[in-house]
Amino acid sequence: MIQHHPNDELLLAAAAGTLGPGDAIVLAAHLEGCARCRANTRMFEGVGGAMLESIEPALMASDALTRTLAAIDGKTAPAAPVAAPAQPRPGLPPGVAWPRSMAHCAVSRWHWMGPGMRWSRVTVPHAPDANVFLLRIGAGKALANHTHTGLELTHVMCGSFHDGRARFGAGDFDAADGDVHHQPVLEAGGECICLASVQGRLVFDGTIARWVGALVGI
Ligand SMILES: [Zn+2]
Repeated sequence: MIQHHPNDELLLAAAAGTLGPGDAIVLAAHLEGCARCRANTRMFEGVGGAMLESIEPALMASDALTRTLAAIDGKTAPAAPVAAPAQPRPGLPPGVAWPRSMAHCAVSRWHWMGPGMRWSRVTVPHAPDANVFLLRIGAGKALANHTHTGLELTHVMCGSFHDGRARFGAGDFDAADGDVHHQPVLEAGGECICLASVQGRLVFDGTIARWVGALVGI
């Protein structure tokens, strides 16, 4: 049962195609499991289309067509579709599937980042700067208390945690910015895997946690 959804601002950005590539993958992972947000996104897409149809046609320059055709001719051929990553993906717990939105992403092996804590780098095609990663945390473990230098979008793939603000379970979505200072604590009953996209970096409290965060580059 999904409890936490993206706000309308994020769904509007998704509908308008203005989300960053990493954020778009995390948001789309939520949409795959959430009929309510899919319906809202479709509504926003419809509103955008209706607005386009209702705006006054503007007079174009007489050479607009010529210039457009010249621009198309001058363009290099579109890049070939990105093939599915040849690199094998790391294992997931039984019954947990990869979001379809990650189909073209490369996913590194699980790296150790602390007792019961692993992470994996998600590489987004054509967006090498996108900071997307998976966190895999064992039942009962806690991620170090941290805040963010930018917006952090999270989709819970499996398991559940409580971060002092609310409980998040499989399918839930969270958007946390620099105003949110939280420490996700895993609940008993299974490990948790989160897909996250961060603008900026996580800022951990404590020397060791900061060191680990800097080391793994999240
Ligand atoms: Zn939703």
